[in-house]
Amino acid sequence: MTVGKVRKPLPLRSKLKLAGLTLGGTLACTLISLAFNAALFHGSTPDVFARAMVGAVVPPVVLASPLFFFLSLKLRQLSRLNRDLNILASRDGLTALLNRTAFSTRVELWLSKRRAGCSTEGALLIIDADHFKAINDRWGHATGDGVLRELATQLSHNVRTGDLVGRIGGEEFAIFLPGAAFSDAEAVAERLRRAVSTMRLTTPGKEPIPVTISIGGVYFKDGIAFEALYESADEKLYEAKRNGRNRVELSEVVPSSADQAETVKSGWTALSAAAALPMEDDLEPAA
Ligand code: GH3
Ligand code: MG
Ligand code: MG
Repeated sequence: MTVGKVRKPLPLRSKLKLAGLTLGGTLACTLISLAFNAALFHGSTPDVFARAMVGAVVPPVVLASPLFFFLSLKLRQLSRLNRDLNILASRDGLTALLNRTAFSTRVELWLSKRRAGCSTEGALLIIDADHFKAINDRWGHATGDGVLRELATQLSHNVRTGDLVGRIGGEEFAIFLPGAAFSDAEAVAERLRRAVSTMRLTTPGKEPIPVTISIGGVYFKDGIAFEALYESADEKLYEAKRNGRNRVELSEVVPSSADQAETVKSGWTALSAAAALPMEDDLEPAA
């Protein structure tokens, strides 16, 4: 039995990068040292000059190569830690979807890039699990967590590459569909609703867990601020709940001029906030 960390071998790309940095750094140091000694011993006898050249090569090779190797390793560790930290900051711990801040910042960024008279379209869907408290109450919080993870998987698998999926609250998710027409948004929302209502989840004791979602959505085709979109989608979600749950309510939202002005303003906020966010997965395939 192996106890402790299992060390993964370095991928070939990382090995090549490491070797490149070590060799490149050593070569650069050697060339500088050679140039320095050549200038210093210029005009000396050939014997002295040759010894100076050999002397110029030995220290960089002996000292610089291990130093550059060590530095390259540390740089690699640092960039991996940085990447992990960025993922932690932008992802929800339970479902690995975008968290609320990362989701809204990305949507705001997308909206702000397409502001100022550019006609654009898309949709925002807010999705809430129906009677989720009853699931927790009946089967416990751990089962509830499992259901949330399954929900996240269903949502992610039923959208296109480039759509954004986030967990924006306890049992509340959001999906942004950039470039979607009204009919696309309708089809996606209905596909999601059906995918969840037909999934077969059971407890370890094989009891079926009934899970459904309600979806409120808004379609837009002109510059609008994220907050306005979110508020309208949230209203539609309440409508879906009022109308019986396990259903979709979708409408088109027409921005007021104040909303359009707000889009410009929030665009700047989003752009500065986005600078602090990992963009490695910008508009990536959902989780
Ligand atoms: P509705 O159909 O009106 O949305 O009813 P609901 O029961 O889903 O809504 P309510 O707001 O009454 O309850 C939400 C529940 O979600 C209560 C809360 O404990 C649970 N919840 C929130 N976050 C988590 C989580 O991370 N894990 C689990 N297991 N439950 C959570
Ligand atoms: Mg709910
Ligand atoms: Mg809720």
